[in-house]
Formats: sequence, C-alpha cells, structure tokens
Amino acid sequence: MTQKYEVIQTDIAVIGSGGAGLFAVLKAKELRADLDITLISKGAIGRSGCTRMVQGGFNAVLNEEDSIEKHFLDTLSGGKYLNDQELAWTLVNDAPKVIHDLEVKYGCFFDRDDTGRIKQKAFAGQSFDRTVHKGDLTGIEIMSRLREQLFRVEPRELEDVRALDLIMSKEGSISGVSCLDVRTGEFIFVNAKCVIVATGGAATMYKIAAPAREKTGDGVAMCLRAGLKVRDMEMLQFHPTGLLAGESRMTGAVLEEGLRGAGAFLKNASGERFMSRYDSERMERSTRDVVARASYTEIMSGRGTKGGGIYIDISHLGKDEVQRRFPGMVERTRLIGSDLSTGPVEVSPTSHFAMGGVEIGIDCETSIPGLYVAGEDSGGTHGANRLGGNGVAESTVFGSRAGMACARAIDQFELNKPDEELLQKSFARVAYFVQSEGNESPFTLTNSLKETMWENFGVVRNEKKIASAETDLLELRSRLKRINVPKNQVFNVALNEALDLENQVEVALSMVRSGALRKETRGSHSRYDYEEADDENWLKFISYQLGDGENYLIETTPVQFTRVVPR
Ligand SMILES: Cc1cc2nc3c(=O)[nH]c(=O)nc-3n(C[C@H](O)[C@H](O)[C@H](O)COP(=O)(O)OP(=O)(O)OC[C@H]3O[C@@H](n4cnc5c(N)ncnc54)[C@H](O)[C@@H]3O)c2cc1C
Repeated sequence: MTQKYEVIQTDIAVIGSGGAGLFAVLKAKELRADLDITLISKGAIGRSGCTRMVQGGFNAVLNEEDSIEKHFLDTLSGGKYLNDQELAWTLVNDAPKVIHDLEVKYGCFFDRDDTGRIKQKAFAGQSFDRTVHKGDLTGIEIMSRLREQLFRVEPRELEDVRALDLIMSKEGSISGVSCLDVRTGEFIFVNAKCVIVATGGAATMYKIAAPAREKTGDGVAMCLRAGLKVRDMEMLQFHPTGLLAGESRMTGAVLEEGLRGAGAFLKNASGERFMSRYDSERMERSTRDVVARASYTEIMSGRGTKGGGIYIDISHLGKDEVQRRFPGMVERTRLIGSDLSTGPVEVSPTSHFAMGGVEIGIDCETSIPGLYVAGEDSGGTHGANRLGGNGVAESTVFGSRAGMACARAIDQFELNKPDEELLQKSFARVAYFVQSEGNESPFTLTNSLKETMWENFGVVRNEKKIASAETDLLELRSRLKRINVPKNQVFNVALNEALDLENQVEVALSMVRSGALRKETRGSHSRYDYEEADDENWLKFISYQLGDGENYLIETTPVQFTRVVPR
C-alpha cells in the first residue's frame, strides 16, 4: 500500500539535537544566515541525548604549560594507536576554539580558579589537567546555552520526530530523510540539499548502560542501510563506575571520572585497592579500558560485592569537600540510598560510548556527497578507547565543522527528487510492524538483546561467546519479523521500541562480527583467548558494510600513521 506523507523542503536537514546537532545548526547559520535548516529530533530538543548528561567536562588545551601535541599524544595513546590521526589532530586543534565559542559567543560559564582563569581538572589518561567543567553538571550548562541560541537562529524544529532512513535520488545522490512524527503517527519526507547525521551512537544495547535511552544506533543503522562503511565497531567503551541500584533505572548511570581524578579509591568486597594489581603506577587514574577490565576481573573472580560490583570511595576527602565538588553525584547516590560524601558506593562497569561509527573525513564528509556524519555516530577519532573529556569535545568540534562544511558547499548541491520506491520502502518498515500479526513483544526482544550483548560481547569476550552473540542476534532479527504491536502509529511506544530494536540489532551485528575478526586485546576490545595486543598484525582498523540481502562485507585496513608512528 502506498503511504501518504508530508513534504518539507529545506537546505540542510540536521538529525539529532545533542552537542553535534546544535553546533551544526549554529555554525551553518553563522556562515550563511539565509539558509533554511530543519532540525529533526527524536527526543526533546536540547534536552535529549548524552551531551546534556556530560558530568565531568571537556578536554581543551588552554594553559601555556600544556600543548596541542600533548593532548594529541594522550588521545593516540588512550586509543591504542588505532585512531585516524587526522581526525584526532583536528579534535585537539579545534577544541580550544569551541571552548572560546561556548563562553564568548554562547554564554557558558565554566568554573574558574582564584585568578579568574578557567579551571581545568584531572581526568584519567591525561598528561596535563585539561578538563574544563562546570562542577559535575557540565553538559547541562553547555546544552542549556546552545538551546537558547536556537531561539535566535530559528531553525525549523521537528521535535518528537524520528528519522527513519536516508533517501537517495534515482541517480544515487542524497535527497533527504524519511521520518515518522511520533506524536501524530504521520510520515514526513524532509527533502534536503545536505543532510547531517548526529544521532549519538548506540551504546544502549547492554543490560547495564549509561546513555540516554532514545539513542539506539539509528544514525549508524541508517548509514549502513544507505551503503556507507562503518569502522571500529568492536570498540565499545565500558565506563568503570556505573551505579548499581537493583531494578531501578538508575542502574548504569555514571559516576564520573573526575572522582578518580580527584583521588577516589576503587575497592573490592574485602576493602582492597585492587588497581595495584593491574596498573600500579596510575592506579585508579588508569584509562577506562584498563579500570573496567580490572573491575570486571575482580567481580568474575568472586572478589566483588553481593550486588555484583565493586566500591568507589572518595569519603576520605571529607563530606563538605565532596559535596562542594561533586554535588550532582552526591545527590544521585542519595537517591538510591547511599551517600558518596560519607562512604563507599557500589558500582559496576557500564556500557558507555561507541568509539566505532561511520567513516568520515575531517569535515565530517562521507562517501556520499552532501551527506555528513558528526559526533558519536562517526568513527575513527578515538581509536580503541576514548579519553574522558574527549567525547563532548568531539561532538561540538565535529558538529561545528559539519555545519560549516555544509554551509560552504550548499550551492554545489540541489534539491534532488527522491527515489519514490526507496521512500515507500522506508515507510513500509513502519507499516509492516503495525500490521504484523505475530506474537513477539518488542520489549521482551529488547531484554534478550541486552542480555546477550552483556553476557557474550561485554567487558571481556572470547570466540565462543562472540559466536553465541551472533547466533542470538540473527535469531532476534528473524523474531523481529513476527512482532506484535498495537495497530496504530500515534504515540505507539511498542512500535517505536520495535523500530529502535531493528536498528540496534543491525548495529550489534556489525559490532560482534568486527569483534570476531579482531583476534587480540586492544583498548576496549578485551579477549580472554587473545590477551595481548598484537601490533604486528593488528594495527589495522576493521570496516564493515552491508551488502545485498543479508550479506555483509568486512575488511581490514592498516592504520595510516600520518603524524606519529607508535614506538
Ligand atoms: C552519562 C554520560 C556522561 C558523559 N560524560 C562525559 C564527559 O564528562 N565528558 C565527555 O567528553 N563526554 C562525556 N560523555 C560522552 C558524551 O556525552 C558524548 O560523547 C556526546 O555528548 C555525544 O554527542 P552527540 O551530539 O553525538 O549525541 P547526543 O548528545 O547523544 O545527541 C543525540 C541526539 O540524537 C537524537 N536522535 C537519536 N536518534 C534519532 C532519530 N532516529 N531521529 C532523530 N533524532 C534522533 C536524540 O534525541 C538526541 O537529540 C558522557 C556520556 C554519558 C552517557
């Protein structure tokens, strides 16, 4: 059946309203105030996604004793040299400019020291204290100010509208984005000259997970369906200190890295500071991959807490000091019946950030002219492990570059007519779920997805577990065809769950297949069966691309050491 849809014509369609999406809008408008921009957001604009959840802060070189080169080397060393060095270099170079924009143009006010300079704090894996922050609620400061700026530049805002697919013209050029208006259930086609994908990646497919729930790999899945290559998909970061709060939705919520930077201890159930056995030099200030693996090993070796975690303890700094420096986290722990300012809090590794994503160039361009990808949806910047503080820097730096690149190139692009067949195929995915008379609940399937990813493709993996994960995912993909949801499209939570799940399964498959291929331990990809990094064979990144039907292509490419060769 042919579906009816509304058409919106625009110069630039930006998908996602986190740090990357909002910076893209603001910077495109700064260069070309005459542009018509449409901002499509599945969640509330400026209040959804993870940029708002940023607690710790933003890495930028602002001090004369620090340097861009040091930040660059820290980023490569943290990423175990799997990074695209040009992306990493762009990140560290542009980060100070973004901090300047945030303060001077957009009105953010970060914490200052007694001399009035921006105060920068310690984060793990860094050779200099360079993390700019606003207490432990940095993301709220950034996103609130960016949201205010939107009222000035006035893009067309499509809120509670989920992007479904990237739509090409018959000639294969970008034509726009198919969408479902979640509130009305109606279909929309945003016909655009340029599209920027910034939906924030897909680290939510785990039983214990930190990111905003509406992030379900939609952007990456859309790009995969459009034929783009993704890279480093096996590199999923587990933050070492996610809250454990039983069945509560607070389980997985992050206690940020600034705690370890400020001297917090990690202890097992016997009260031992176990990091001395894993990284005696850096102890708790070791990088996330090392700390998450150490915590997981403690738990799996029976030295964990009853709730299946370990403890973080910063109470030795004194109640008032902890309260003053980390008010957000103190409040969060009190909500679940413990108190960070007076004693240890039970935590576990939690799925946190996708280093993998769509292959891009330094202006976020992709292999499809007019299509750009920015922020956590892109891959390459962080290599095998992201440093704390480099995430929000990435989304704002590259969102900014994507917006400017579109504005500069816009006159080369035109509004292409969509391939009607592709558009109808996209709407038919939604209609299929609504009409399906199957017996599967999308919520049960989501739980199965989270369970298998946690058990089989979690903090530490091996061949057998990875193979089980792939089998489970393929089974989930076929069970999705027998889904049953209420028979309408208006604010249909179950339908949206099914659409989320479809994307998550596709992205998860790219993760486990890439993980099966990488036979070594590097950064966030930890294997019991290949415990060491194998630089001789594996200083390569893995690209994954969908083929015809259920086929896929996977290949390795040696990392280009364009600036620094690892010793
Ligand atoms: C708890 C937590 C704490 C963090 N703390 C830090 C920190 O201290 N420092 C740091 O550097 N990084 C931190 N990070 C990482 C950082 O938040 C991310 O790297 C970054 O914010 C991602 O920005 P983004 O713009 O790519 O995506 P997000 O900010 O996540 O935005 C994604 C947007 O896409 C929208 N969207 C999703 N799917 C669709 C769709 N189908 N259609 C339309 N819209 C869609 C969402 O509604 C949302 O608006 C933290 C992450 C978490 C989870």
